[in-house]
Amino acid sequence: QWIYLNDQFVKKEDAKISVYDHGFLYGDGVFEGIRVYDGNIFKMEEHNDRLFRSAKSIMLTIPYTKEEMIDLVVQTINKNRLKDAYIRIVVSRGVGDLGLDPYNCKRAQVVIIAEPLSIFPKHLYETGIEIVTVATRRNRPDVLSPKVKSLNYLNNVLVKIEAHLANVSEALMLNDQGYVAEGSADNIFIIKGNTILTPPGYIGALEGITRGAIIEIGKSLGYEMKEEPFTRHDVYTADEVFLTGTAAEVIAVVKVDGRVIGEGVPGENTKKLLAVFREKVVSDGVK
Ligand code: PLP
Repeated sequence: QWIYLNDQFVKKEDAKISVYDHGFLYGDGVFEGIRVYDGNIFKMEEHNDRLFRSAKSIMLTIPYTKEEMIDLVVQTINKNRLKDAYIRIVVSRGVGDLGLDPYNCKRAQVVIIAEPLSIFPKHLYETGIEIVTVATRRNRPDVLSPKVKSLNYLNNVLVKIEAHLANVSEALMLNDQGYVAEGSADNIFIIKGNTILTPPGYIGALEGITRGAIIEIGKSLGYEMKEEPFTRHDVYTADEVFLTGTAAEVIAVVKVDGRVIGEGVPGENTKKLLAVFREKVVSDGVK
């Protein structure tokens, strides 16, 4: 396996960075996760744009143009001869001294990893998953915007820990006002009749690329798609609940905090959305 690391490809075992890298020392950096389906990169431009927006927000200069970054991702996929893959781009502030000051870091470090997929086990897409809500709150959008996909993922890590403690595969964060925000690495949707709701970005959710794709697909299928705040009560009493994310795709949720959702199996609407999504990921991708 070949890793792209600062202007060159190196073998996985040689892909090492300094302990003085500020991504390591301070979580100072940004990242993206992207899927390749049958040789098609899904929503490459959207992911790339979000990467550059995240970097701009924290005043991090990516040492490549947007076009160069896309080309590097393509090169990494080809070099590893992958058709179906998960891509991780990491841009850290770079090597500096022990001080926090990012101005001591001369150049950002760029890592691109492409590897075969490890997603939720297949049977979970047929059974749906159980989730819980946890004590960890989403950080406030005005403090450190959850729209920045930064290397500070401690909230999300704590959510995963709480999910493990509750013996479930994923959990939901609320924001500081108690509105439902998102999962550790996925967005949430609830269905009531013909209406499909997802929390707006200002509640404290990453504006997921998969979320965007599902909003488009939902509209094209005639659903009323709404970005509106909602509470746990709305989740418990929804007809259907599902999560979306680059790794998770679209996965049905059948139990939340012990409350069975709908019939306790993936609903027809969720299944329809997943089916159309799976068709689109191949047809809409960039070769
Ligand atoms: N929310 C968080 C916190 C994430 O890290 C992710 C993953 O990227 C998502 C939501 C889902 O976003 P996307 O569909 O762009 O992968």
